[in-house]
Amino acid sequence: MRMILLGPPGAGKGTQAVRITKDFGIPAISTGDIFRTNIKEGTELGVKAKGYMDKGDLVPDSLVIDLVRDRLSWDDAKDGFILDGFPRTVAQAEALQGILKDLGTKLDIVVSIVVPDEELVRRIAGRRVCRACGAPYHVDSLKPKVDGVCDICGGELYQRADDNEETVRNRIAVYEESTLPLVEFYTEAGLLTEIDGTIGIDKVEGLIAKALDK
Ligand code: ADP
Ligand code: ADP
Ligand code: ZN
Repeated sequence: MRMILLGPPGAGKGTQAVRITKDFGIPAISTGDIFRTNIKEGTELGVKAKGYMDKGDLVPDSLVIDLVRDRLSWDDAKDGFILDGFPRTVAQAEALQGILKDLGTKLDIVVSIVVPDEELVRRIAGRRVCRACGAPYHVDSLKPKVDGVCDICGGELYQRADDNEETVRNRIAVYEESTLPLVEFYTEAGLLTEIDGTIGIDKVEGLIAKALDK
């Protein structure tokens, strides 16, 4: 199964990706996580990406596309993958078509998770993320069993540098301007399913599972 999780910051893409990975045994590929790992390790890519990410702007397409081309060629993505946070522009979506064509495969489904802006801001302001595996938590609505520690891997939870109210408003605006056109792009391709992301995490997972069954 080859799928894209589309949605604004805070829609619940990472949360659902963790669950689908478990259910289907396919990797979740988050371009944001890959950039954050590169920043932590001080790579050239990380240094280039950091300024854009801190402001909530998109990293240039050229940097993102090469990274995804490489990642999708790994052995673990052979039988399927979940893309979380890519593509984010029409140019990235077009590049993805080329990458998949070269790999002799294509997408099965694009799930767009819809959540109103004010709820996005609430979620992002309270988000905590595992430093080791990237799993997301929330200070009010999704607490880990042990304070500050990831349920899945025992890693340390932290607040992302870009998860503040000012940056998130820019990220939402950038989403509406640059990424929302992908809803039409994938509707025309006959791949899009929209899902209400305001219901509980389990219910959203249920709706996605139903969409995948079809
Ligand atoms: P969110 O959880 O808000 O959806 P991500 O972790 O997916 O955030 O992305 C964090 C930041 O990384 C983005 O604001 C952007 O700067 C950069 N980024 C991640 N993926 C992409 C992409 N496909 N294209 C451009 N920039 C990206
Ligand atoms: P994204 O990857 O789309 O940026 P996340 O999966 O990291 O979003 O979720 C953002 C925040 O919202 C996290 O703190 C998460 O615990 C919370 N969250 C995710 N899905 C839901 C939901 N259905 N209802 C309430 N809170 C949610
Ligand atoms: Zn973890």
